[in-house]
Amino acid sequence: MESRLPKPSGLKRPMSAIKPTLTTDRNKALMNNMNANTTYSGSTAQPLTRDLQNIPQASFMRQGARALSPEPRKPMGMQNRSKLRRSRSACDISEIRQNLKRMGAPNLPTIPSKLSRHANSTMTANAATGSESTTGMCRNARAGSAPARRLNVAPAPAPTTRPLPRTAVSTNKAKPATGTAGGGAAVAAPKRIAPYDFKARFHDLLEKHKVLKSKYEKQVDNMGELESLPTQLEESQTKLIQTESMLKHTQTENECLQRQLKQQVERIETITSTLGRTKDELDQLKVAHQSIKTDHDNLSTEVLDLRLRNEELMRSNEQLAADLSTCREQLFQSNIERKELHNTIMDLRGNIRVFCRVRPPLDYELGRLSCSWTYHDEATVELQSIDSQAKNKMGQQIFTFDQVFHPNSTQNNIFEMVAPLIQSALDGYNICIFAYGQTGSGKTYTMDGVPDNVGVIPRTVDLLFDSIKNYRNLGWEYVIKATFLEIYNEVLYDLLSDEQKEMEIRMAKNSNKNDIYVSNITVETVTDPNHLRQLMQTAKMNRSTASTVGNERSSRSHAVTKLELIGQHAEKQEISVGSINLVDLAGSESPKTSVRMTETKNINRSLSELTNVILALLQKQDHIPYRNSKLTHLLMPALGGNSKTLMFINVSPFQDCFQESVKSLRFAASVNSCKVAKAKRNRYLNNSTTNNSSCEK
Ligand code: ADP
Repeated sequence: MESRLPKPSGLKRPMSAIKPTLTTDRNKALMNNMNANTTYSGSTAQPLTRDLQNIPQASFMRQGARALSPEPRKPMGMQNRSKLRRSRSACDISEIRQNLKRMGAPNLPTIPSKLSRHANSTMTANAATGSESTTGMCRNARAGSAPARRLNVAPAPAPTTRPLPRTAVSTNKAKPATGTAGGGAAVAAPKRIAPYDFKARFHDLLEKHKVLKSKYEKQVDNMGELESLPTQLEESQTKLIQTESMLKHTQTENECLQRQLKQQVERIETITSTLGRTKDELDQLKVAHQSIKTDHDNLSTEVLDLRLRNEELMRSNEQLAADLSTCREQLFQSNIERKELHNTIMDLRGNIRVFCRVRPPLDYELGRLSCSWTYHDEATVELQSIDSQAKNKMGQQIFTFDQVFHPNSTQNNIFEMVAPLIQSALDGYNICIFAYGQTGSGKTYTMDGVPDNVGVIPRTVDLLFDSIKNYRNLGWEYVIKATFLEIYNEVLYDLLSDEQKEMEIRMAKNSNKNDIYVSNITVETVTDPNHLRQLMQTAKMNRSTASTVGNERSSRSHAVTKLELIGQHAEKQEISVGSINLVDLAGSESPKTSVRMTETKNINRSLSELTNVILALLQKQDHIPYRNSKLTHLLMPALGGNSKTLMFINVSPFQDCFQESVKSLRFAASVNSCKVAKAKRNRYLNNSTTNNSSCEK
């Protein structure tokens, strides 16, 4: 045992071996030694020996601490020798080893029991301060000289259990408490262990061993941690790569989100702008709504007022409707009375009326000699020849008619006398208007007129349609049907058709003896005056087309324009049928040559038969010879019965027409004297037809 004890010479290591700081290599070496010390079994060197070998290092620390102390140092050889002299017996070392064994250090020799308690107490105290000392060591490794002082503080309890050697005490007493490193705190002066105090030295070494062991264990732990560092590094790198990938992905997503965010921001701005406009519009609409609501309220009020007023008006309207119905009835009755009165007037004037019209000489006829015309009154005219011989032979020629129109009479003057007859036609009477006279006496002028001065027929058309409007207010609806017919050489021609067709005058079935119709004739329903004028123009053209250069047929034929007026009163279930026959007769002059003997013969015959019919009516003969000529047969409904006849006697003013003028005037005078029985108005029931009409008696 004793041979294994460290020799004092081991403490004589030169100071040069002691460095103020622990370098990294030295730490490693220290750690290696400490590592080797942990495996006591199988080692060539005994643990204690190795521990003692470490003493220089520990003493280095103490030396470092002393270096900081102002205490003067003795030579190392002197100190070690004195320490060795004062050391205790080797049995103390055995005791220490025993304590170490109890603490867990293997292969330590048995320690005497005498020292067990003290060692234990020392070890316990050291263990209590071990961690702090170890910590101080670590700090010393990093901080340089400071740890030396800290290490020397740790074994402070030792003096409490055993008095320090005199040298140590004196050294401690001599050493001033500078406290430079402690900043003025009480820093314990480094203990000095006598070289012979092996037990103290052992304790010190044991403390150092514990510190170093603890440090070693920590280093081992650190080494384990360091060994796992590459794996951790790889893991970290892998994680780093993943993180970078995730970062890139996240950045991409972030950019995408940024773009989306930008778009959303733009959208929000747009929506905000739109919202602003919408709010403005909403405000405007609210204002408009308020205005409309106000208007609506006002209108509602007005509607209420109007409803009340409407109710009043409804009641008033009902009253007015009743009054109107009464008025209509009265008007209808009044119209009937008017018709009766009108017809009475017409009867008083005569059912056959004769008007004489003397035409003026035209501009190119001013050189022709005219007869002497004397107009005694509006109905009497005196005609005298300017030829004295003829004057003596013919004597005084005075004629009386219903009306005499001198050459200055206008078309309007003529129609004023015709209009009442047109009114009678609308009231349901048959009207017949003739124009009788020699060729060139003014028949066509009187009936048709000229474009700038229209005659009876166009004026009749205008009056008809005007009257129809007024009759509509009375509940009458009229339909006008028109036919245009020419009688030439006792043959009928349809002036509204170019076709050569067989036309016959036939009696209407289921009618009285006066109702006739013409077969195959074109019947046009006239809707307005212009339509009727167009039809008149067509008829006039067809009539002139039939003429030839050597045969001017228009003056040698009779032109008959028939307007049938069919009125219907729906409320009263009545129908009124009247007609207007406008006849432009052929020239009444006597033939001067035999070239036109046939047509002259037919003309004279028809005019003679017309005279006979009128005279038969005048004389109220039982038989009226209507059928002796086409003309009288055609005009049968308009001659006699309920008819009203107006005959214009047109005469020329010239001396060379004197004979023809006297002839026409004599014919007219004889007709005028014919008194036809009172006319009866046509009145039909609604379910009756024209053909089934019956004459009211
Ligand atoms: P008719 O038909 O009897 O043969 P017209 O009617 O053709 O005779 O008349 C012959 C001419 O005399 C026509 O040029 C016509 O314009 C003219 N005439 C007839 N009567 C009058 C009159 N009252 N005022 C002016 N001119 C008339």
